[in-house]
Amino acid sequence: MKRRDFVTSALGAAAISSVPYTRASANDLSAKTLSGGETVLSNAEIKEFGDSLRGKLLRPTSDGYDRARKVWNGVWNDQRPALVARCSGIKDVLNAVEFARTHDLLVALRGGGHSISGKSICEGGMVIDMSLMDSVHVDPFEKTARVEPGVLLGALDRASQHFGLATTAGVVSHTGAAGLTLGGGIGRLQRKHGLTIDNLLSADVITPDGQFLRASEADNADLFWGLRGGGGNFGIVTSFEYQLHHVGPKVLNVSFMYPISEAKDVLNFYFDFNMNAPDDLYIGAGLAMPPGESGFAMISGCYFGDFAEGERLIEPLRKFGKPLFSNVGPIDYVDLQSRNDRNNQHGHFYYAKSGFFTDIETAVIDNAVDRFEGTSSRRTLLLISPFGGAVGRVAEDATAFTHRDTQYQIEISSGWEDDSLSDDNVQWCRRYWDALEPFTSGGFYVNFIVDQQQQQRLNENYRGNYDRLVALKNKYDPTNFLRLNANIEPTV
Ligand SMILES: Cc1cc2nc3c(=O)[nH]c(=O)nc-3n(C[C@H](O)[C@H](O)[C@H](O)COP(=O)(O)OP(=O)(O)OC[C@H]3O[C@@H](n4cnc5c(N)ncnc54)[C@H](O)[C@@H]3O)c2cc1C
Repeated sequence: MKRRDFVTSALGAAAISSVPYTRASANDLSAKTLSGGETVLSNAEIKEFGDSLRGKLLRPTSDGYDRARKVWNGVWNDQRPALVARCSGIKDVLNAVEFARTHDLLVALRGGGHSISGKSICEGGMVIDMSLMDSVHVDPFEKTARVEPGVLLGALDRASQHFGLATTAGVVSHTGAAGLTLGGGIGRLQRKHGLTIDNLLSADVITPDGQFLRASEADNADLFWGLRGGGGNFGIVTSFEYQLHHVGPKVLNVSFMYPISEAKDVLNFYFDFNMNAPDDLYIGAGLAMPPGESGFAMISGCYFGDFAEGERLIEPLRKFGKPLFSNVGPIDYVDLQSRNDRNNQHGHFYYAKSGFFTDIETAVIDNAVDRFEGTSSRRTLLLISPFGGAVGRVAEDATAFTHRDTQYQIEISSGWEDDSLSDDNVQWCRRYWDALEPFTSGGFYVNFIVDQQQQQRLNENYRGNYDRLVALKNKYDPTNFLRLNANIEPTV
């Protein structure tokens, strides 16, 4: 792919510099520094660092290096870090931070590796890879879960559901809990129980200067506030503690598919239908076009309450239109949560745009439908996720995530397998989004692609919380050690 185009115009140059990664001498390594320069790591220094880890330190010649540098979005799979520190515990992460600081290395943090914009990998720097730290401990008596930063959502859901419990988690089960949580955490339970961050009780954090802190309402409350929506800007989280709730284990699955030719009617109906939805009802909508097919419109989601009441609530849906397919009935919550997994395979190429909406004008529906296009090789999607409910009952300044007035998030995405189609598909996605973006609240989710333009609008995106975030960055990460993210730039 012409990834350079993708990067320079879509993602900003922060992650990539023009300094090539080269081998310095026999066993020494040249590596990229924070400022984009080059430093040489001697073989002895690398060995000493590697020996300090319980996990493994991988260099380009190590077995497993190529596997370890692969992330979910294939667009980034040409990135070759100088080192991948596969951490096995807190001490490994502390050692990695110290090594990176000593050598002024550019650092990427990897949890589940699902950053769509490739922020968990880097060219020439060092990846602090926490994917091996994947334990989940559920306390069914306190209804809490403590998870390490390499935990994937499916593992969290499965361990919690073993006790009939769950917390808000995203809709693809191979996504990482760490990155998802720090940006906010959108999922099917959000109208009932809030975003993932609204269920975060505490986090253990290694700060860029090597301190190990607990962040909660009681300890380092300023940091705790920033972690809830401010992304990986302030520290490296080694453990998340979540509040769990009784869920399922069976919930009412609601799924309707209609011909794409009915899309406008479907979306108009959906927005009317969803207007008075109770918190227990999470129903989204969308348009989907698999490669080479004519596509369909959909209304789908679930009901978390009593099934008979759920059936009553969705009666208008049953009466609407002539679906190509419909399915209403009990489903295990864990099965529902992994239903989208196979449509989001690792290593394919992806691009996405998204934004928050406080209301939906007719022009949004018209543009969404009229400009929706597929090709024989691209999977094209528009997804509408309902907000409101418990998300909206949290004050805008209670957490770093500000967009509590959001009613809907709309996300468009394209996925393809042939790199030579990358430019066309990225360009198409951008053009499509140009027609929808003017109708957003101006806000966007920092966990989806944050392009250069959005990076410059981060201030606006965080609204009244931005100054507080900058103050936190100045306090916890004044050198911008953690910069591969939706970056809050320090001002000191
Ligand atoms: C297929 C797919 C489905 C998705 N569905 C949803 C969804 O339903 N809801 C939703 O809210 N989002 C969703 N997302 C977006 C998702 O929240 C982000 O991609 C998120 O970054 C994934 O977390 P990760 O741990 O896998 O990411 P990684 O790629 O491992 O990390 C991303 C970033 O998170 C930060 N980070 C990771 N680990 C740590 C840590 N331990 N300490 C500090 N910072 C850290 C770093 O800045 C890092 O660059 C989805 C993404 C994909 C690809």
